[in-house]
Amino acid sequence: MKQEVVVRFPPSPTGYLHIGGARTAIFNWLFAQKTGGKLILRIEDTDAERSSEEMIQGIIDSLKWLGVTWDEGPYFQSRFSNEHVAAAKRLLDSGHAYKCFCTKEDLDQKREEARKRKAALQYDGTCRNLTPDEIAKKEAAGTPYLIRLKVPPGEGSVMFADIVYGIIEKKYEDIEDFVIVRSNGQPLYILSNAVDDIRDRITHVIRGQDGLANTPKQILIYKALGAPIPKFAHMPLTLDPKKAKISKRTHGEMVAVHFYREHGFLPWALLNYLVLLGWSTPDSREIFSKEELIEAFSLEGINRANAVFDVRKDDPKFFTDPKAISINTHYLRNLPVEDIEPYVRAELEKAGIWDPEFEGTRHDWFLRTIDLIRSRYHITTDFATLGRAYFSDDYPIEPKALKKNILKHEGLKEWFPVLADRLQAIDTFTVEEAEKVIRETADEFGIKAGILINGIRAAVTGQAVGPGLFDVLIAVGRTRVVERLGKGVSFFE
Ligand code: GLU
Repeated sequence: MKQEVVVRFPPSPTGYLHIGGARTAIFNWLFAQKTGGKLILRIEDTDAERSSEEMIQGIIDSLKWLGVTWDEGPYFQSRFSNEHVAAAKRLLDSGHAYKCFCTKEDLDQKREEARKRKAALQYDGTCRNLTPDEIAKKEAAGTPYLIRLKVPPGEGSVMFADIVYGIIEKKYEDIEDFVIVRSNGQPLYILSNAVDDIRDRITHVIRGQDGLANTPKQILIYKALGAPIPKFAHMPLTLDPKKAKISKRTHGEMVAVHFYREHGFLPWALLNYLVLLGWSTPDSREIFSKEELIEAFSLEGINRANAVFDVRKDDPKFFTDPKAISINTHYLRNLPVEDIEPYVRAELEKAGIWDPEFEGTRHDWFLRTIDLIRSRYHITTDFATLGRAYFSDDYPIEPKALKKNILKHEGLKEWFPVLADRLQAIDTFTVEEAEKVIRETADEFGIKAGILINGIRAAVTGQAVGPGLFDVLIAVGRTRVVERLGKGVSFFE
């Protein structure tokens, strides 16, 4: 029988979920979905001082928003510290670990000497071969001790095949007898993390490349505890264009998942974008439905090269990676309107211009209008900013549109009222009729239709650009159009 795949996502709740962490979660989730396996959410909260309830909730909310689902958990690492200590005790009993009574001063001095000799800065194994008598004496004297793992002696090495990075080998002689329990009795993270993975029967450890340094040591822990060794897949780092590692410290909120939620991203669009940070298909495909992505995903498709996240904190045009925006734009414009509707609603609510009629008597109109105006939008917030005039009578006129499309043409002072009257007089207010009236009016006054079209657009929507004007007029509705043309005149006063 094939063993069921079990993977885990174990964030440390010392900050919000950032795009690197989200990508790790997504890869684990996709792998579980693909293999019919199980994803466990495990909160690594042993650093009590830096962890907070608020961060835990934030991480969970961001995962849920992205649509990443898990099968078990959240489990909390801190609740298993007895197990971690018990594992260390087993390692002591079986001779795979030993108590180290060296003081910090001893260790500092040894390191200093090693530095002078230009030797490796490794623990020299002083306490490795203490006799039971010596140990008993030190214990009786109450000498504090650390617990160290006993790295096997001799020429051997730890070797494993990372699914992404290939064969990795680390010689025993290059691994020091590392600490697994502090002198205050607290287990170290490297131990807790491995013990949790053993208890949870994790089959694949899929994590960031920064975990690679721990892996040989953790494999030694697995072996010493007689536990089966999982497969490992380490993912490339995400770097900014200057090749600095993406981090909360350097990039702030810009790399938080919630930032994208607040700045008009659709969850699936962000997920789709994040998957492409370090993973690709042979045909470099970029857009995937959920089913397609699960079908296409494989750990072997993860690239070794570091991924670049083009943070653009100060670029007014993009505000984030242009590829991320282009993927969001794709979904915003192409998903069924009904799928976009809740996000538009949320934006209008946030802007204080939501009207219950939009889901009541004007629901059809609402969907049609979303569909009309989204063809020029990139993020959901555009509906409440650029699209405000469709949903509210209280909208600003873009200064450039006012100057170029209205004030530059004095004649509009006279033409706006004429247009208002004529549009008012049409029997049925349709795209064709509105167009006819506007073009005929332009001819009559001997001006280009474009002058009227651009002027009306600016007055009616506050924007210099938008969908075809005649469609716009129908979407805004005759009464409002007429009213707004009247207001257009007042700009000249
Ligand atoms: N808590 C670690 C982190 O947030 C996870 C390391 C691992 O996946 O083993 O980086």
